[in-house]
Amino acid sequence: MGDGTEFDDALLGLRGFRVLAVTEDGDELLVGIETIRRAAGCPSCGVIARTKDRLRVIVRDPPAFNHRVRLVWSKRRFSCPDSDCPQQTWTERSEELPDRRVLSARAGRECTRAVGQEARSVASLARWLGVSWATVMAAVRDYGIPLVEDPGRVEEVTSLGIDETAFLRANDEHPTMYVTGLVDLERRMLRARGAPRRPRNDRVSRAAGDRERCDG
Ligand SMILES: [Zn+2]
Repeated sequence: MGDGTEFDDALLGLRGFRVLAVTEDGDELLVGIETIRRAAGCPSCGVIARTKDRLRVIVRDPPAFNHRVRLVWSKRRFSCPDSDCPQQTWTERSEELPDRRVLSARAGRECTRAVGQEARSVASLARWLGVSWATVMAAVRDYGIPLVEDPGRVEEVTSLGIDETAFLRANDEHPTMYVTGLVDLERRMLRARGAPRRPRNDRVSRAAGDRERCDG
């Protein structure tokens, strides 16, 4: 569809990266990207590194222009020109495209926000991105747990609700599983969530979804 331009880079919105090419693959967009940085120092001795070769790393990003998006990162592998240096080779890294993750950091953060603030289901977000349920759940854990464990997060809560909802549909292995969440009623945000569990008894099953409010 096009070669990289400054306009493409602005649309990409990924600081430190530029667009190499955008192509259509079925109903998805493949966006080829690379880092803008050209010179890198050896992390051990500081000598300017050589680009040894490139790796092709594919990462899922949030949909754009009504298409699912895969970023194809042409990732540089560097070598140190000093043969005595203990650091022979290394690859560049980005916090926005973390190593060994299916999702970009912004896709993971958006899933976490949508689950916590909008009570979107993990399954619907998996469909939105075109990835597995387990991939989205792992991202929600990775990005959500530090938020839940932040001691400052409950300081300003003035109205806390307890919300019990069905979490996993019943199957041959287990009955419908439930989770209990603590909800900031004013901001409509999930503040904490318990582990999935079986219904305690039938009364709990019937009461699922009911909300009890404790203003304070
Ligand atoms: Zn070196």
